[in-house]
Amino acid sequence: METILLLAHTETDGSLAKSAREALHAARTLNKAIAGSNLFVGLVGESVQAAADSIGACPATKYFGVTGVDFSQPRYASDAAAAEAICKAAQATITVAPATSRWARVLPGVAQRLGGRADTHVTGVAAVDGKISVNRWYYRQRMEGALTRTQRPWFISVDPGSQPACECGSGTAKVETVAVNLPDSCKRTTVVGIREPKADAQTIRPDAQLLFVTGAGWTKKQADGQMHLPEAEKLIRDFLKLTRASLGSSKSLVDQSGEGQAVLSFLSHMNQIGQTGSTPRHAKGLSTCCHGEEPHTVGWRFINERRAISLDPNCGWARGKADVLYVADAFAVMAKVNALLSTSSKT
Ligand SMILES: Cc1cc2nc3c(=O)[nH]c(=O)nc-3n(C[C@H](O)[C@H](O)[C@H](O)COP(=O)(O)OP(=O)(O)OC[C@H]3O[C@@H](n4cnc5c(N)ncnc54)[C@H](O)[C@@H]3O)c2cc1C
Repeated sequence: METILLLAHTETDGSLAKSAREALHAARTLNKAIAGSNLFVGLVGESVQAAADSIGACPATKYFGVTGVDFSQPRYASDAAAAEAICKAAQATITVAPATSRWARVLPGVAQRLGGRADTHVTGVAAVDGKISVNRWYYRQRMEGALTRTQRPWFISVDPGSQPACECGSGTAKVETVAVNLPDSCKRTTVVGIREPKADAQTIRPDAQLLFVTGAGWTKKQADGQMHLPEAEKLIRDFLKLTRASLGSSKSLVDQSGEGQAVLSFLSHMNQIGQTGSTPRHAKGLSTCCHGEEPHTVGWRFINERRAISLDPNCGWARGKADVLYVADAFAVMAKVNALLSTSSKT
């Protein structure tokens, strides 16, 4: 009989992140598809009762918690010990967890400790006739594979954004405390602070509806023979401020800083989309001043509706990569779009 465990950690305010609810959706999908299976929840954090209660109406029949100040911060030694203890207490055969940075570095190690196997970057789960399969993408998202395993325990980390978040409501959850005695050697690492960009400088927004991509064209000489970098910066910043879109870029543009060329100050390699960049998930995408070559557009795999603005009617977007291509000057188009957006935001 399969025992399916959702393994999640709480956030600093004690809540559950959306990615945890997405993993719960995947765990519940398996639970529904496998007759007679158990669905349990395991939570790690300084205190977990509020998080457990927030999903208290879900069909899980048991809740396990590892709590205490030692488990408030991400740290390999304490997180691995907590996950191991919960998996043992629950006797989980399948553990489903969100692929947060905290779990991603811990779960393969926990699988090793328990003699199990781990699959990462899972984007889909299913079970037919009691046989579980998971989907993931290979070769920079070019091929999708489905695989099954007979080995148990099986650890499945689910990519955030690949599942709908479960909408089960709150209730009162009875959490069984699982004791973990951490030796001092497991407490040597402490988090002394977090360095992150200011909220308004954070341009990568995985939850945004729209991906806005900037290409190298923004920094090229325009029809008047001049570059218009300050104008480009302002147009892009204004658009992001008005729409809260997530900012992506082509490789050519983010590489320019390494070449000592003039660049857009708020872009880094973290923004790069494509074969050697990221493959984000957004409902819509708008590309500007970008040629739409295959190594770039392969990163658009999970963007459902695609539009592009390029001066070149023969660019890659025109060759089946975009649903709509506007052959136009992106400086002019974005200035008009921003004007319309700011008028509508005032009304
Ligand atoms: C192994 C390998 C891996 C790679 N991985 C990646 C990757 O992960 N991501 C990635 O992006 N690339 C990647 N590349 C590079 C990729 O092949 C392209 O070189 C790159 O995407 C081109 O960037 P771009 O379209 O911004 O620039 P360009 O090719 O210079 O295109 C600029 C475009 O802007 C247009 N333009 C200029 N001015 C305007 C204007 N005013 N209005 C509208 N349009 C305008 C031009 O017409 C042109 O089409 C990789 C390449 C290799 C070989």
